[in-house]
Amino acid sequence: MNNKENKIIKQHLEYMLISAFDFLEFSAENFENKPKYSIIHYASAIELFLKSRLYEEHWSLIMDKPNIQHLKQNNFHTIGFSNLIEQYKNVFNVNDKEVKNALQCFHSIAQDRNQAVHFYHKNIELNSDDEKITIATKQLRAWNYLKLFLQNWEPVLGKYIKDYTDKIVLCDNLLQSHSKYLEIKYNSIKDTINDKIKNGANYVKCENCGYKAVNLKQKESINLYSGVCEVCNFDKNYALKIKCPYDNTEFTIFKNDLINENIICPNCHNKLGYEDLFNISDNLSDEKINCNSCLSDDCVIKQKNLNTYKKYYDSVYICLKCLEVTNSENYCQYCNQSQIGNKSLDNSYFMGCDWCEGLLLRDLQTGEYGIM
Ligand SMILES: [Zn+2]
Ligand SMILES: [Zn+2]
Ligand SMILES: [Zn+2]
Ligand SMILES: [Zn+2]
Repeated sequence: MNNKENKIIKQHLEYMLISAFDFLEFSAENFENKPKYSIIHYASAIELFLKSRLYEEHWSLIMDKPNIQHLKQNNFHTIGFSNLIEQYKNVFNVNDKEVKNALQCFHSIAQDRNQAVHFYHKNIELNSDDEKITIATKQLRAWNYLKLFLQNWEPVLGKYIKDYTDKIVLCDNLLQSHSKYLEIKYNSIKDTINDKIKNGANYVKCENCGYKAVNLKQKESINLYSGVCEVCNFDKNYALKIKCPYDNTEFTIFKNDLINENIICPNCHNKLGYEDLFNISDNLSDEKINCNSCLSDDCVIKQKNLNTYKKYYDSVYICLKCLEVTNSENYCQYCNQSQIGNKSLDNSYFMGCDWCEGLLLRDLQTGEYGIM
């Protein structure tokens, strides 16, 4: 790559990212008045974000027929959305269930766009609240995924545009206005939920939307339960069921209890510490596993997977400090530290992880590249 080519690539990335944020802002701002365009622009934003990430990896990855001359002349075709998703999976070796779910959700947003552009979308005029709820919840759900992607990509993409982080915050604020549709949705199912509660169902508040619409019935492991929110479809609501070591009372603890270190037995009122939790929970792992979501050391336990819908996984990994849950552990390619959490270790050989500096920084410090 010579200087001219590098300059072109930098410029492409700048324009792609500016456009992507622009489309997303337009989509969110015009959901009420121009729903059709909201659907179309939302998909364009996702497409451009994914393309930017791949393009940063290598310019040829988003081109239909890669050709450096075409790149220089700014005259080329890029791959379509389905190929884009496949390309992303292959290039970044996507195995993580959550990332797959995210890509699936993005794909569904793109299908809505195709319907709207090439035919017509059945929810296109969004005349009824039901139609608006369907699209608003989908867009909110996709945003929750996209926000994580964008935050993870900050070290690689953040340098190409000013205000990268500010733009994420702005989009977050804009998309939060979709939540009034969640209220309508909740009001429409509230009576059914209350009936189920009377019949013994265990409903708790959703961590994503705050409505008491999560039926905690899915057993994930000996201690862990999960439930999908019936309002916003958020599927990472978790709770631990544990037995008090003093009097054997079984009780349930949630993410906030762990984060606030406020675990109190409802029967004997003894306060349990993090070590108590570690001691009374089954742990199949004897190695030290860290959590890169809450940046805690040696805080993760491994239990047998009991969720038959996820039969391909043997294990469930649970952070006892922040209730991050995954089905596999990751290793830093540089320091080999085992960890779970929502940070990608894709480039960890060069960039390191939260527990090491990686090759690049080490060599910069030792002057290997003659920079320092
Ligand atoms: Zn919810
Ligand atoms: Zn107790
Ligand atoms: Zn954690
Ligand atoms: Zn590391």
